[in-house]
Formats: sequence, C-alpha cells, structure tokens
Amino acid sequence: MLVTKHVLAASSTHSTPYYMVRGAASGPVMVVTSGVHGNETASMAAAQKLADDCAAGRLFIQRGLLIIIPRVNQKAYDKKIRGNPDLNRTFPRRLSAKAKHPLASAVFRLAREHGPDWWIDLHEANGLSQLSSRVLGQTLITNPGSRAVPACRRIIEHMNHSIANRDRHFNLKQHELPGSARTAAARLLKARSVTVETCWSLKRSVRIKYQTRIVHHFLREAGFI
Ligand SMILES: [Zn+2]
Repeated sequence: MLVTKHVLAASSTHSTPYYMVRGAASGPVMVVTSGVHGNETASMAAAQKLADDCAAGRLFIQRGLLIIIPRVNQKAYDKKIRGNPDLNRTFPRRLSAKAKHPLASAVFRLAREHGPDWWIDLHEANGLSQLSSRVLGQTLITNPGSRAVPACRRIIEHMNHSIANRDRHFNLKQHELPGSARTAAARLLKARSVTVETCWSLKRSVRIKYQTRIVHHFLREAGFI
C-alpha cells in the first residue's frame, strides 16, 4: 500500500490537500470527498482520519485506488461557513459543460482522470430522518435507481443493527440534485455515488464514528478491504 499527499488547485486561493492511497493490487477506484460544505466538521474529521489511518498503516487497503479530499472547500472551512455560493450546486451538469466554480471544476477533473467506480461524498445535516421524512440527518442519498442502492441498503441494515437508539437510525433517500457532486458523479462519470449525511446535533465524536464506520462499509462493499 502506498499513500501520497498532493495539493488540489495548487496555484489558486482554493488550494487544498488530497491523498492517493494505492492498494497492493489493482482494483476499483473510489473518491471520498468531504468539506464541500465548510461547516460540516465531523465529516471532514472522518475523512482526514481515513487518510491518516491509511498513512499510519492502521487501515490496510488491499486493492484499488482510493482518492481522499478531506476539506474540499478549505476557505469556507477556515471561516466556519457552508460556503457561498453553495459548491454543491456548481458541479457540471453535462460532460461538455464547465463546472460553475473553479474548485468544483478541480475536484471533478481529478475524479474524471481516474474514472471512479464509487464516489462517497460526506456531509452533515439537520434533523433525524427517522423522526421526519423531510430532513436529511442520518441518511444515505443516491440518485434515483442508482446501482449503489443495494450496497446502501446493506450498510444501513448493518449500521442500524448497531445503533440502540432507534431515533438515530439511518434511512435511504433517492434524489436527483443537479449541480451536486453526487449527481455529477452518477450521471456523467457513471459512478456509484452516495451522499452520507449525519445529524449534526449529535455529539461530534458519535458523528465521526458513524461517518468512519459507513466509509469502512463502503470500502468493504467495493472490495478495498
Ligand atoms: Zn453538506
């Protein structure tokens, strides 16, 4: 396994680190992004921990290429804001179209270069989906009819089995969101793409734990570990 650190959008004010984790054998390609919204801190901590765990050999990637961008919108993160404009509405809507933001463009270009089979985008949201179908906290979201749906259902079953408090159980949502990383990855790159949303009113350590376990489940589903 080889872990290398790089800088995305290096020559711009949007520069942010990313990691390439190459398994011992060739295999699938997965992109893990977080911090598309700069104030969703537990998801960013989980993505950084994923990179650190690989670099320290605590997590062994047997095969495939894992690309981790822990804080996509570093500037918004520094200001503790979601980001303006909302970066998750600026990803390209057609392959021939440009992203509406240089950062979304840099992220999408990096992903496209490597032809991802999977793209997991880590976020946080309000509310508990178990209590209201109108909120996104504690959900996995795919595009309608995505090939990622069976894996998401298995992962939700695993997660919910281990969460004693039913109010915190995860649910699946299927939703098209033009301009989002998820929909761009699904429609334009044909990746199995999933948005992970934890509820940010839960304790931070719990949110990091949920995010980390969900990513590990996806790595297992995709054959990385
Ligand atoms: Zn978000």
